[in-house]
Amino acid sequence: MAKRSYNRDMTPTREALIEAFAEAGHELWLAGGLVRDELRGLPPTGDADFATSAPPDECERIAKGLGATVATIGQRFGTTGVLLDEGLAEVTTFRGDSYTAGSRWPDVTFGSSIDEDLARRDFTVNAIARNTVTGEPRDPFGGRDDIERGLLRAPGDPRTRFAEDPLRILRGVRFVSQLGFLIEEETKAAMEESVELLGTLSQERVTAEIERLLRGKHPKAGLDALNEIGALPHVLPELAPMPGCEQNRFHKFDVWGHTTATVEAIATDEASLSLRRWAALLHDLGKPPVRHVKQNGEWGFYRHEIVGAEMAEALTERLRLGKREGALLTLLVRRHMDRPDPDDGRLVRRFMRRMDGHWRDLLALKRADNASHAYDDNEYHDRLEEACERVEAEEAAMLRAESPLDGRELMALLGREPGPWIARIKERLSTLVLDGELAPGDKEEAKRIARRMGGTAALLAESEDRS
Ligand code: ATP
Ligand code: MG
Repeated sequence: MAKRSYNRDMTPTREALIEAFAEAGHELWLAGGLVRDELRGLPPTGDADFATSAPPDECERIAKGLGATVATIGQRFGTTGVLLDEGLAEVTTFRGDSYTAGSRWPDVTFGSSIDEDLARRDFTVNAIARNTVTGEPRDPFGGRDDIERGLLRAPGDPRTRFAEDPLRILRGVRFVSQLGFLIEEETKAAMEESVELLGTLSQERVTAEIERLLRGKHPKAGLDALNEIGALPHVLPELAPMPGCEQNRFHKFDVWGHTTATVEAIATDEASLSLRRWAALLHDLGKPPVRHVKQNGEWGFYRHEIVGAEMAEALTERLRLGKREGALLTLLVRRHMDRPDPDDGRLVRRFMRRMDGHWRDLLALKRADNASHAYDDNEYHDRLEEACERVEAEEAAMLRAESPLDGRELMALLGREPGPWIARIKERLSTLVLDGELAPGDKEEAKRIARRMGGTAALLAESEDRS
């Protein structure tokens, strides 16, 4: 306990880190997301990214000298993670030239100035820095103007930049979703020409960027950008047949338009954001492979949720999403066409039980799915939600397993003096509630049972023997 508070006292502030680098004679610049978001007029969220003239081992030495908890995030990239009072800071030694094109992980050499470092960054809006001591701003590529215009532009020759590290293509698409920016034309053309290189990236890096894209504020725009540059066959080939896969008169869009609209529409909170956006993205995976012409001449998608669930299982495994998340997504895809009658308690319970505690996620998916259909099904979903809420309340009451009758009511009912018999009858009644044989709070039925038990002295005695 004492040790823990000692450690907390030792967590240095950002100011202390800045002073320590200055005292050691090193430049330290704030760069990346924080500078960008500050210029957009947003409060600082996320980690602080610093660039410094100090080599990596020196960064570590300085941070440890302050008593900070230090993590080497990527020794190869020259990044040291430092836990500060204000949150995590990533201190990266100035980057220099030379990335090995097409390798799974880029090679990094160290540079000698902030401008050289900024020239190695992915987009002009991220290539802005501010000196932590003098406050001097550096913006050699017009990043401020691009922030104002809402444009993502690679600094320097975009083709070269994407060849150096193809992950930048996906980062760009991710920033479309996060920032709501557009990709500048020449940069976009270069992305289109470079998509083949995405195949050289490690699955971990790719999956992390798709995840960030899905969590952004404008996921439809990000997904559309991903499709427009032709990246789908390279990073999400399972989804590649969706664009252009026409549907029937019940739908406003093709499968892709419907899918991206569903991702955009699904209601989320922080805890459910990732799962629900993924579920929306995958829910109609099975449509292109099962599409067939029905007797009435329209497109049909019979059994698409079954085929889709099989595809979702394989896809989530390939992307190395967690086992639990993969299983849940598969289940959500499998069940998204379920449509129980809200007035049939048994069907509602079965619907809920199948979802393993995630019926709210399924309902959110069903509502979002419906939002881009040509017909409106809100009333049905409201009724289903109410029915599920009711079952949940009933089940909670069942688990509380309270006897519908208290001691006073039992004495009045049977006209008997207080005694251990009260506990025995209450025990029996609550067991019946727990077993689902007596509805919680059903006093009338409870009275009938209590009369039967109380009327038979032998029965009471017998239950005493048993216990
Ligand atoms: P976020 O708000 O998500 O943290 P960010 O812009 O800070 O966004 P980070 O991944 O934290 O993104 O990276 C910090 C900075 O490092 C970026 O702003 C960018 O300047 C640079 N950077 C990160 N990855 C790359 C890359 N693959 N190629 C070039 N520069 C990169
Ligand atoms: Mg950052």
